[in-house]
Amino acid sequence: MPPKLIDLHGRTIDYLRVSITDLCNFRCIYCRPTEGVPLVPHSDILRYEEILRIVIAARNLGIRKVRVTGGEPLVRRGVVDFISRLNSEIDLEDVALTTNGSRLPEMAKGLYQAGLKRVNISLDTLRRDCFHSITGADELDRVLKGIDECLEIGFDPIKINVVLLKGINESDIADFAGLTIEKPIDIRFIERMPFGAEVPPPNSPASFSALQTLKIIERVFGELRPMERAEMAGPATMFKIDGAKGKIGVIDPVSGHFCGTCNRIRLTARGSLRPCLLSPTEIDMKSFLRAAPNDREIEAYIKAAVLAKPASRFSNINKISVGMNSIGG
Ligand code: SAM
Ligand code: SF4
Repeated sequence: MPPKLIDLHGRTIDYLRVSITDLCNFRCIYCRPTEGVPLVPHSDILRYEEILRIVIAARNLGIRKVRVTGGEPLVRRGVVDFISRLNSEIDLEDVALTTNGSRLPEMAKGLYQAGLKRVNISLDTLRRDCFHSITGADELDRVLKGIDECLEIGFDPIKINVVLLKGINESDIADFAGLTIEKPIDIRFIERMPFGAEVPPPNSPASFSALQTLKIIERVFGELRPMERAEMAGPATMFKIDGAKGKIGVIDPVSGHFCGTCNRIRLTARGSLRPCLLSPTEIDMKSFLRAAPNDREIEAYIKAAVLAKPASRFSNINKISVGMNSIGG
């Protein structure tokens, strides 16, 4: 029997999200702190060797799936080799990547050869002006090219994450949903979480609900077919347009609650373990790791972080002042 990591609330924790950098080539209005991302000395960011050591310990405890994220993970040098090592040196069931897609046109092939098969690409609009005003970058064409490249190479699944932004991208919803008819991609609409939301609109746009989103899609495409939950499925509730190749999902961290089935912990680029995305607790893994512990001690430290996982999220998520870029989504 493979080991199981179970928290104090009876949840099996088998999924680790690893942020490998705070840096990003985009400035998404709902993600980056407006005052900019503080420059962190290189030595404060975990080295790949250190991350691999943590992942091995986590795997020994029961972690089966790892997602590489950021900041923008594809801007960190050596990421392809890192993913190759995750795949070849550690016996994980699943290694996946979340990216803004801008570097995929030139990197997708190398990533696939490194053993990556699953990719999530974040894209909130199909309109160039809107893309620019959300991300601060004029790179929509590159992201679309990256998605096509992934389709051609054979990544499976390819998931597009769309953050719902009131007054900004409602008009894209039906177009995104329509993409699933011809292309084998999953479009997942995510309620915008009010991270660090002291910033007034437009820098901190409100979300609209997953339910409203489904209504907009059904008005255009007819009733959606609910899908069964797959094993190791994330928090998305999935649907399908009749006859479509891809699926449609909604993730409702704001209007809904999926804490009871949460299976994940996070490692930030600066080396903190974060037991819950929507609670402020962080446990400094980096200082501990750099004090030369043995493998058993690292495992015990990770286990203690899992036991610090709260039953449910912090009730006032507006008070979590850290940006999503530093946690990794
Ligand atoms: N740069 C990569 C990207 O954009 O995919 C990876 C890191 S990003 C922090 C991971 C995910 O978090 C993205 O899908 C992004 O849309 C999502 N995200 C960031 N800020 C968010 C927020 N305030 N609410 C909901 N999702 C958010
Ligand atoms: Fe960068 Fe991703 Fe945050 Fe956008 S969501 S600023 S691409 S880290």
